[in-house]
Amino acid sequence: LKGYIFDIKRFALHDGPGIRTTIFMVGCPLSCIWCHNPESLREIPSDENYSNDSNCDVEKRFKVTEHSTFTLFDEIKKDGIFYEESGGGVTFSGGEPLNQVDFLEGVAALCKYNDITVVMDTSGFASFDAIERIYEWTDIFNYDLKVIDDTLHKKFTGVSNQQIISNLLKLTEMGNKVRLRIPLIPDFTDTEKNLNELIEFIYKLNNVNGIDLLPYNILAESKYKRLNKESEIKNITVQSDDRLNEIKELFKPFDFEVKLRG
Ligand code: SF4
Repeated sequence: LKGYIFDIKRFALHDGPGIRTTIFMVGCPLSCIWCHNPESLREIPSDENYSNDSNCDVEKRFKVTEHSTFTLFDEIKKDGIFYEESGGGVTFSGGEPLNQVDFLEGVAALCKYNDITVVMDTSGFASFDAIERIYEWTDIFNYDLKVIDDTLHKKFTGVSNQQIISNLLKLTEMGNKVRLRIPLIPDFTDTEKNLNELIEFIYKLNNVNGIDLLPYNILAESKYKRLNKESEIKNITVQSDDRLNEIKELFKPFDFEVKLRG
């Protein structure tokens, strides 16, 4: 089985517990207009069209690399000493890792057999079968929850949220492995209506073990420029610390951890 990634970030401190190695996988079925990883939004290559030649600097920096289960596991294992000392492990991110579930299942299982903890960043837009296949090999799902109003969800991300919500309801019934991640994008996800609807929805969930509130990553705009891509949102004014703390207070009634900036 082959898998395609575009970056490996070592010594990551905000992608789960301890010191982590984050694997960025190619491809995502969503097209969020605030996407902070536009370099992930490429087609997953096939054996026939795989090539990592490019003239573009950013494409070179984030060149797509083909891996087998074992070559990627070897990359992950290089940081083993840091996992042991810090309680860290590997985080699969992207893009949408579940887009390459056949490959992912093998690497995640190999990590778990070798006592490396696995965190899975996901948009939740996948078949529930894909989630079930990696459930056993995953310690924490960092599960995105963006917009509750489905019409707005389609407008901002290109897809309906029905499958995302249905998967989340089922996943939280299975055990306590879900940490919600809410991007706070002014005027898109950070509106009074959406925040109230998110809170109302989260009350319906069993077994949430935490929430990360993620302010818009202003650095994404420079990535678009370097990729010669047009960002659909420009000149966003990121919320002040006071406003971010005000939002955090709204989530205070929950009895699990709520963190700003993950
Ligand atoms: S789900 Fe994540 S990677 Fe995919 S388009 Fe949205 S922000 Fe980008």
